[in-house]
Amino acid sequence: MKKCISLLGSTGSIGTQTLEVVRSLGLHVCALAAHSNIELLEKQIREFHPQIAVAYKEAAAVELKKRVADTDTKVLCGMDGLCTAACIPDADVILNAVVGMVGLRPTLAAIEANKDIALANKETLVAGGALVMDALQNHKGHLVPVDSEHSAIFQCLQGTPSKSLKKIILTASGGPFFRKSRAELADIEPEQALKHPNWNMGAKVTIDSATLMNKGLEVMEAGWLFHVPLSQIQVVVHRESLIHSMVEFADNAILAQLGTADMRLPIQYALTYPERVKGPVQELDLLKTAHLTFYELDKQTFTCFAACLKAMERGGVAPAAVNGANEAAVQLFLQKKISFLQIGDLVCAAMDAQPDVPLLTLDAVLHADAAARNYVLTHV
Ligand code: NDP
Ligand code: MG
Repeated sequence: MKKCISLLGSTGSIGTQTLEVVRSLGLHVCALAAHSNIELLEKQIREFHPQIAVAYKEAAAVELKKRVADTDTKVLCGMDGLCTAACIPDADVILNAVVGMVGLRPTLAAIEANKDIALANKETLVAGGALVMDALQNHKGHLVPVDSEHSAIFQCLQGTPSKSLKKIILTASGGPFFRKSRAELADIEPEQALKHPNWNMGAKVTIDSATLMNKGLEVMEAGWLFHVPLSQIQVVVHRESLIHSMVEFADNAILAQLGTADMRLPIQYALTYPERVKGPVQELDLLKTAHLTFYELDKQTFTCFAACLKAMERGGVAPAAVNGANEAAVQLFLQKKISFLQIGDLVCAAMDAQPDVPLLTLDAVLHADAAARNYVLTHV
């Protein structure tokens, strides 16, 4: 039977590529959600006929409701709408591709409803990893990563007992500013940072790739997904983005997953898991693949990356603080209100200002996130 998908973040880079996979495999869509891009949401509603469509922004939902009044799709808004889409009874898989911490509550709601989750929204695990992993233990759905590195690791680990895992080797493209010095980064404009050499992604994750915050977030994401401490995660810069990540076992064997740099592959794997089927992704021509290169990552220059490692060591709400501060700082950088290097400065300072908490609850995570955002907004 064809699976039915609830897709959160349907108008974004991952969302639209998910719908290409859905088209190619002939899957069904029972819910779609976005923030406010109702032009595209309306088109998607008319093509995929979901039971529910969510526009997070209320005014957008009101307008969308008028536009699709002739369809059977019910229009909802806000966090309640997102959580309803995340729990919709007909969905076999919830693909969460919203950007930012706003994805945490819908992920938790989907787990509570015993849904299988395909997770692109890495901020969910960074900020609320402990809550998500606890909830998964007590419910029957499984979580498959969509982030290409984590999908690669997940694929490499299939069929291997976790005790034989020695370390995870996360690959990093190095971003557009590989080998640049801090002096060279001082005057970087958003337009330059928005050009990624290998991947075409949403604005926030593209800036995160340029600051290497993205790799720091991914280290924390890997820690939660694969139950490994920081000491068992190595990051190597691999400019070609053909090896999507690797695992090393107790006997020093290394397994890698390779493929073209196309997010539709990890998206498709998360939707069809544990099966593999023919989809829209091109095969990788190894004979045209000249070199595979590996370099060390420069933690001194890319302070966002270093801040994430520190947050992971600190634990508690520190990762939520680092993430919240970064979300706020990236917005300010895109609005040209702060410089490229100030993103890292603000992220580090906001984390240091955040006190530890005795008990990690959803409220504590949301509070730390809000406090870190507020720190950034009041220190520019
Ligand atoms: P985009 O910015 O392209 O898309 C974000 C999507 O989320 C849009 O559909 C947007 O709606 C929606 N959205 C934003 N805020 C809300 C909200 N409050 N409620 C509901 N929907 C909301 O991002 P990407 O697709 O690039 O990234 C999505 C996630 O996937 C991120 O966490 C990112 O880190 C991760 N990821 C992305 C990769 C990529 O290649 N793009 C690779 C690996 C991970 P609207 O259009 O209306 O604003
Ligand atoms: Mg990634």
